Amino acid sequence: MEKDTISSIKSLLSTPQHIVIIPHKNPDGDAIGSTLALSHYFTMKGHKPVVIAPNDYPEFLKWMPGEEAILKYDSQTIRCNQEIEKSELIFTLDFNALGRIGDMGLIVEASKAKKIMIDHHQQPEDYADFMYSDVSMSSTCEMIYNFIEMLGDASLIDQDIATCLYTGIMTDTGSFRFASTSSHTHTVIGKLIETGIKNSEIHNNINDSNSYERMQLLGCALGNLKVIPEYHTAYITLTQEELNKFNFKKGDTEGFVNYGLSLKGVRFAAIFIESHQDKIIKISLRSKGDFSVNDVARTYFEGGGHTNAAGGKSDLSLKNTVDKFISILPNYQKELQSL
Ligand code: 5GP
Ligand code: MN
Repeated sequence: MEKDTISSIKSLLSTPQHIVIIPHKNPDGDAIGSTLALSHYFTMKGHKPVVIAPNDYPEFLKWMPGEEAILKYDSQTIRCNQEIEKSELIFTLDFNALGRIGDMGLIVEASKAKKIMIDHHQQPEDYADFMYSDVSMSSTCEMIYNFIEMLGDASLIDQDIATCLYTGIMTDTGSFRFASTSSHTHTVIGKLIETGIKNSEIHNNINDSNSYERMQLLGCALGNLKVIPEYHTAYITLTQEELNKFNFKKGDTEGFVNYGLSLKGVRFAAIFIESHQDKIIKISLRSKGDFSVNDVARTYFEGGGHTNAAGGKSDLSLKNTVDKFISILPNYQKELQSL
């Protein structure tokens, strides 16, 4: 982040402010972790922050410190609009395009509040007054650590802030194993552990809260796993009927796509999940190495993300979406077959 930007933000924060902090729709561990951490920090500094999520998030995140105070725009719209109306600053975290917050996007765009984006995705849109965008970062939580440090307040990071930041870094790096994990990531994690947080418990809270039905759904997903060896590609499908059979709850399919990627030789993996409610097929894409799933998601599936993890959607049927997916593989022949 530029020195000028930091000093401008410092002066905005020099008196108590009403601050709205927003994660992306269907927030994940990094989105909830970064917004809560920043909110705890601002409270400590005498501001009045409120976190507004576009919609609800999975149960496995509902233990995080301060989580119970998060407002949900889709079910508490009037209250949320009031908060946005009186806000002086709006922080948008872990996304870089207003389309990623659904109906809230227009309200945020129209707001007179100064907007600050902190995010690690590719190709940021130009809606913010101040931008801290860095695609080399493992997570937005790692950037929030840097941000607090740049404001000269790293020593204020307490166990609540550290727990939230640890959770986001851990979830966005697949427990510190994805290529985005740097020595700086581990340095930050070391500082967070030094606050005395129970890091092992955080892993348990996130990973060991499976329901029996989720495990059965995983069995179904693995049964549907297909491999296209010539393109080093694997994909999984789940129909709405299959989701219903195993009493699907938000977050149950989190991480399923990685099983495709765990096959020996596979460098590109996808999962296609039918949603009757949203009338779309939700798509998650993952890769290893230089093959950019951000490019695939942007070009063919109205989405985006990072080089190795991206998401998107399709308005076609599940079968036609898979057919489209298979038909585009030859366009990436060089990247996929040379591996
Ligand atoms: P996931 O597959 O876990 O939903 O998302 C993987 C990554 O891609 C995340 O960093 C997420 O923020 C991003 N992503 C998911 N869906 C979309 C989308 O529709 N548009 C954009 N721009 N990014 C997305
Ligand atoms: Mn993230």
